Amino acid sequence: MTEIQIATLLSLLASPKKIAIIPHRNPDGDAMGSTLALYHFLLKLNHQPIVISPNEFPDFLAWLPSSESVLIYEKDKVNTKEVLKSAELIFTLDFNALHRTGEMQNVLAELKAPFIMIDHHQAPDDYSLVTFSDTNYGSTCEMVFDFISVLNQKNLIDTTIATCIYTGIVTDSGSFKFPKTTAKTHRVVAELIDAGINNSEIHHLLFNNNSYESLQLLGKALQNMKVLKPHKTSYITLTQEELDQFHFKKGDTEGIVNYGLSIKNVILTAIFIENKEEGIIKISLRSTGDFDVNELARLHFNGGGHINAAGGKSFDSMKETILRFEEIVRNHPNLK
Ligand code: 5GP
Ligand code: MN
Repeated sequence: MTEIQIATLLSLLASPKKIAIIPHRNPDGDAMGSTLALYHFLLKLNHQPIVISPNEFPDFLAWLPSSESVLIYEKDKVNTKEVLKSAELIFTLDFNALHRTGEMQNVLAELKAPFIMIDHHQAPDDYSLVTFSDTNYGSTCEMVFDFISVLNQKNLIDTTIATCIYTGIVTDSGSFKFPKTTAKTHRVVAELIDAGINNSEIHHLLFNNNSYESLQLLGKALQNMKVLKPHKTSYITLTQEELDQFHFKKGDTEGIVNYGLSIKNVILTAIFIENKEEGIIKISLRSTGDFDVNELARLHFNGGGHINAAGGKSFDSMKETILRFEEIVRNHPNLK
């Protein structure tokens, strides 16, 4: 962050304010961890913060401190709209384009209060007064740690704030294994452990949270996996019917996409999940090395993300979407 940005932040935060903190739609561990970390930090600075999520967050995050105070826009549009309108400052965390909030974008676009963006995705839109955007970070939570540090308030990072920050670092780094996990990431984590987090317990809460049915759904997904061996690609499909069969709940498909990359020599994998209600196929893409799935998602699937993890959607049927994907893969110069 520049000196000017820091000065702007200090002046914005100098007097108590009503502050709305927004994660992206379908928030993950990093989105919820970062927004709740910032929430607890701003509370300590005597502000009146509130986290407003565009839609429900998954169950495996419902233990996060103060997650019960999070407002859900799509569940109560009238009330949350009023709260948003009365906010004097808006933080958007873990995304950089208002459309990532779904329907809520229309309300956000009309707000007069200044925006502050903290995010690690590529190509940020130009909607914020202060844009703290850096793709070198593995998680928005690590950025929130640095945000608090540059404001000279690191002493305020207590066990609660540290727990939220740790959650996003762990989930967005695949438990410290993705390439953006740096020595600094580990130093930050060391400080979080010094702040009193129970790191082992957080892993337990995040990952030992399966239901029998979600494991059966995983089994189904693995059976559906296809491998395009000559093209170093694998993919998984899950139809709405299959999701219904295993009583799918939000979060149940989290992480399944990564199994496709665990096959030897596979460098690109995808999962296609049908959502009949929204009339889309939700797509998650993962890669290893320099194969750029952000580009693939942007070019072909109305999405984006990072070089090794991206997402998007298709408005075609599952069959047509898969045919299109296979054709892209067969013709891709880097998959021959
Ligand atoms: P996931 O596959 O876990 O949903 O998302 C992987 C990465 O891609 C995340 O960093 C996420 O922010 C990004 N991403 C997922 N879906 C979309 C999308 O529809 N549009 C854009 N621009 N990015 C997405
Ligand atoms: Mn993130």
